Amino acid sequence: MKRKAVYAGSFDPITKGHLDIITRALGVFDEIIVAVAHNQAKDTGLFTAAERVAMIRQAVTDAGARVSVDVFSGLLVEYCDRVQATAIIRGLRAVSDFEYEFQMAMMNRHLNARVETYFMTASEAYFYTASRLVKEVASLGGDVSALVPPGVHRALVERFAKPTRS
Ligand code: ADP
Repeated sequence: MKRKAVYAGSFDPITKGHLDIITRALGVFDEIIVAVAHNQAKDTGLFTAAERVAMIRQAVTDAGARVSVDVFSGLLVEYCDRVQATAIIRGLRAVSDFEYEFQMAMMNRHLNARVETYFMTASEAYFYTASRLVKEVASLGGDVSALVPPGVHRALVERFAKPTRS
């Protein structure tokens, strides 16, 4: 049986830290679904869900058919059941991620014991890479090109470009 895992997150936008986790997960699972969490009422992201999906698709083309990209809303464990995945992948950076991730993993197990959460750590090069920080730095004109795929970098530069005076 194929081992299918869901890597869920906001991916607003996808970073090289996320991509590192996807590459590592491909070494363990046969198929990865990168699932963009989207809640119409609460989503205050910089990019729309459709834009995030397009950027992720562009960034994972090398992985071929083993990685697919989707959007989901509602409970993650219910989404896992719908797509017949038995694993959730989460990335851990510093200790600061741990408390929240641990709570989520326990809650997800409580809701659906068939789905197991797996934690992975990215390369130390991306230890401090977070979408939130990348957006903040990019909005102030800082260079984040080493931390995000080229398509995301272009999108960030465009989004934060200063309007030209006429
Ligand atoms: P972020 O916290 O960057 O806004 P997301 O909600 O998109 O992230 O994250 C999805 C998952 O990827 C989470 O488990 C998060 O901890 C993990 N993750 C994000 N960036 C990294 C990174 N640089 N290294 C390891 N894991 C990461």
